[in-house]
Amino acid sequence: MQQTMVEQPRSGFWSGLSLWKKILVGMILGVAVGAIMGPEAAIFKPIGTLFINFIKMLIVPLVFCSLVVGVTSMQDTRKMGRIGLKAVVLYLGTTAVAISIGLGLATILSPGEGLNMVANDIAATAKEAPTLVSTLLNMIPKNPIGALAAGNILQIIVFALGLGIALTLCGEKAEPAVKLFESLAEGMYKLTEMVMKLAPYGVFGLMAWVAGKYGLDILLPLAKVIAVVYLGCLIHVLVFYTGLVSILGRLNPARYLKGLANPAAVAFTTTSSSGTLPATIKASREEMGVSKGISSFVLPLGATINMDGTALYQGVCALFIAQAFGIDLVFSDYVLIIMTSTLASIGTAGVPGAGLIMLSLVLTTVGLPIEGLAIVAGIDRILDMARTSVNVCGDLMVTILVGKSENELDESIYNSTESDSNTATI
Ligand code: ASP
Repeated sequence: MQQTMVEQPRSGFWSGLSLWKKILVGMILGVAVGAIMGPEAAIFKPIGTLFINFIKMLIVPLVFCSLVVGVTSMQDTRKMGRIGLKAVVLYLGTTAVAISIGLGLATILSPGEGLNMVANDIAATAKEAPTLVSTLLNMIPKNPIGALAAGNILQIIVFALGLGIALTLCGEKAEPAVKLFESLAEGMYKLTEMVMKLAPYGVFGLMAWVAGKYGLDILLPLAKVIAVVYLGCLIHVLVFYTGLVSILGRLNPARYLKGLANPAAVAFTTTSSSGTLPATIKASREEMGVSKGISSFVLPLGATINMDGTALYQGVCALFIAQAFGIDLVFSDYVLIIMTSTLASIGTAGVPGAGLIMLSLVLTTVGLPIEGLAIVAGIDRILDMARTSVNVCGDLMVTILVGKSENELDESIYNSTESDSNTATI
C-alpha cells in the first residue's frame, strides 16, 4: 500500500501520456536497457511475447468481421453497384501499385541488409516456395471453419469477401446477420484498442531483448526504414496520384494537392483514416466539388477498404524483415506479398496501429519471422503518420475520379482558387 502511494505521481504522469508517447518511451527505455544489459536483457522478452500473442489472437476474428462489414457496407442499388465497382477497382489497383513502389524501393535501398538477425522459429516458418498456381488454388478454403481454426488468412479473406457479397445480395433477409457482423466488428475494434494498451510494455520487452542481442546497430536500419517509407509515400502521392488526376481525370493536379492539405494534416496527427473521415468528406465537397452522393458513398468505403499507405509500408517492412533475417525471397513470395497486402488492406481498420497487426498477417502468410514485428513496432507511430496520410489522399483521389466519370464533379468549385468553406455543393 505504502509503495503504491509513493508511486502515485509517476503513475499519474504515465497514465496522462497518449499511447504513442508511451510506446515511444517503451522503445527508448527498451533500447537503453538492452544496451546496458546486453544478452541478459532477454529476461524481458516474455513481456514482448505476451504482447505478440495477444496480437495474434486478434488477427482471425478482426480480419473476418471487418472484411465482411467492409463488403456489406456497399449498398445494393444499380448506381451504387456501378460506382462501387469503379471505386473498388481503383482502390485495389492503386493499392497494388503502392505495394510495388514499397517493394521496389526496399529492394533498391535495402534497409535491412547487414543486420544478420536470427529468428527462433525460422525452421517452422521456412517454406518450400509454392508455385503461383498452387498458391492461387489454395486460396479457396475447402472448409472455411478449418481455415478460421488454422488461421489461414488468404482463405479467410476469400471466404469473408464471398460471404459479404452474398449477404449484400440477400438484402433484407440477411439484415440480422449483417448487424451481427457489424457489432462483432465493433467489439473487435474495442479489443484491439485494449490490446494496444499493452503495446508500450510489449515494445519495451521486445526492444530490450533485440537491442541486448544485436546491439545499437539496429537503430541505423530503423532510420533507413523510416526514410524508405516516407520516400515511397511521397512518390505515390506526388507522382502516381497526381498523374492519375491529370491523365484519367483531366483535372489540374495542383488543385488536388491543395485540397489535400487539411485532411492530410488531420490524418498525419490522428493516424486514423476513419477519424479523418469528416475532414475528408468536407474537403471533397467544398474544395474539390464532388457531389454529396458520391462523396458520402465512396469516401467511407475508402476509409474502410483503401489503404495504399498501409500497403506500401507492408511492402517495405516485409522486405526489410526478410533482409534483416537474411531470407531470400523468390518471385512467388513477391506476388504473395502483393496479393496478401492488397487483400489485407481491405480488412485493415482505419484506426491507429491497425497496419502493424496486418503486417503480422503478411509476415505469417509469406513465412517470414514474426519477431520482425518487434523491430518495426517501436517506430510504428512515425510510420503510421505517413501511411495514414497516404490512405486519405488515395481515398480523395479515387473519389475525384469517380465523381468526374459520373459527371458529378463541379469543376467550377474544383478549379476555384479560393477555398470557401461555404461553397454550395451539388
Ligand atoms: N492508421 C491507419 C489508418 O487509419 C491504418 C494503419 O495502421 O495502417 O488509415
